[in-house]
Amino acid sequence: MPTFRAPRGTRDLLPAERAGFRRLETIASDLARRYGYREIETPLFEQTAVFERGVGEVTDVVEKELFRIAPRTDDSESWALRPEPTAGIVRAYVQHGLQTLPQPVKLTLTGPMFRYDRPQAGRFRQFWQFDVEAIGDPGPAIDAEIIELGRRFYLDAGLDGVEIRLNSIGDPACRPAYVAALADHYRSSAALLPPLERDRLERNPLRLLDSKDPAMAALNATAPKMTDRLCDPCAEHFASVKDHLDALGIDFVEEPSLVRGLDYYTRTAFEFWPAGAEGQQSALGGGGRYDGLVALLGGKATPGIGFGLGLDRVILALEAKGAAVAPATPLAVVVGADPDATAERLRIATILRGQGLAVQAELGRRKLGRQLESAVKAGAQFAVIVGDELETGHVALRDLDAASQKPVALADLPALLRRKAGTAE
Ligand code: AMP
Repeated sequence: MPTFRAPRGTRDLLPAERAGFRRLETIASDLARRYGYREIETPLFEQTAVFERGVGEVTDVVEKELFRIAPRTDDSESWALRPEPTAGIVRAYVQHGLQTLPQPVKLTLTGPMFRYDRPQAGRFRQFWQFDVEAIGDPGPAIDAEIIELGRRFYLDAGLDGVEIRLNSIGDPACRPAYVAALADHYRSSAALLPPLERDRLERNPLRLLDSKDPAMAALNATAPKMTDRLCDPCAEHFASVKDHLDALGIDFVEEPSLVRGLDYYTRTAFEFWPAGAEGQQSALGGGGRYDGLVALLGGKATPGIGFGLGLDRVILALEAKGAAVAPATPLAVVVGADPDATAERLRIATILRGQGLAVQAELGRRKLGRQLESAVKAGAQFAVIVGDELETGHVALRDLDAASQKPVALADLPALLRRKAGTAE
C-alpha cells in the first residue's frame, strides 16, 4: 500500500487517460469556435452564496454535495468549490457588465467541477465538464442550436445513438400552479412516500419527479405533467423548440419527469443519455434555459441557456466500447553509439524541436541497439542516428517501420522531417 493516495472520489489521469480527455477538450474547443462560443475561465471556487442562490438551496448539489472550503478564521468568507459552471459564469457576466456587449454573449468553459457525493461508478468528487452558455437570447431557436451542438459533440467523440430527452418546466407564470397540483398528487399518497421524499415534498415537490427511489416509480407515472399545464407563451416556446429540432432532423424523446437537479431552470430542459439507458443509469450531460438566473445573481433580467456535458462518462463509455485513445508519439528519436556524445544528440533534437517537430533525444548511456528498440516502443517513425558522419555534416535517418536508412545532410534534415510529418498526418 502506498503511503499516500489520491483523495477518495478523485483520480489521477495517467497519460493514456489524459490523452482521451485532451481529445475531448480539443473536440469541445473546436466545436465551440465553430458555433461562436468564446472561452471564459472563472475561479474553481466562489462565495458559497453564488451557488446557494444560483443553483438553489433545496437541491442535492447544494444541500448534500457542495464541497465547502473550511474557513480559516471566524470572519473569513464562506467559499465552496464549483459544483457546476453556470452560476460562476453568470456571476462573471454580471460583475463585468457583459450585458453591454451585443447579445447573446456566448461563452464556453471546460474544466473540473466538484461535488461531495458518495463516489461510485461514473460519479466522482472531481469530474470534468464541457460547458456552453448563451446569455441574452430568449430562444426558442437558440435552444435547438445548443441541443444540436451537444449532439454533435457526442457524434464527434465517437458515441453513437445518444438519446436526447426534452421537457419544458414552464416559468414563474405557470409553474407555481403546476407545483401545487404536483404536491397535491403526492400528498394524496403521503403514506407511500419514502422519508426523504416526504421531506422534499414540503420544500421542493418538483424534485420528487426525478427521484431515483424505485418506490416512487408508480406514483411518478401518474403524476400531472408540466407540459399539459404550460401557459401560452411557454407552450408556444416549447412547440417552437421542437419545430426547430425537427427542421434540423434531430430525434428527441419528450420526458415529462425531466426537471433537472438545479433550481434556476425555466422552460427548456434537456439531457443526453447513453444509447439504450434504463432508469438507474446516469445522464451523459444536460442543460436548459435559466431565464431567472442573471437577475437572481444581481444583474438585470436577462434570459440564458446552456449545457454541461460530463467528460468522464464519455471516456468511460468510449473505453467500454474499446475506443481508447493512444497518447501522442514522437516523430523521431535522436540516437547514437557514442555514450559521450549526448551534447550532439541534444543539439540536433533542439534544432528539430525549434522547427516544430516532436522529437526525443536519447540521453542515456545505453547501447545503440537498445536505443533503437526503445525508439520503436515510444512509437517513433524515425531514428536520427548520430555517428562519425557528423564530421562531414551528415546523420543517418532510419525509417523504423521500413527498417531502412540513408545518410542525410544535417542542413536538410529539418525540412525532410517536416515533409515526412506532413505526409504522416
Ligand atoms: P448535472 O448538472 O448534474 O446535470 O451534470 C451534468 C453532467 O455532468 C452529468 O450528466 C454528468 O455527465 C456530469 N456529472 C455530474 N455529476 C458528476 C459526478 N459526480 N461525477 C462525474 N460526472 C458527473
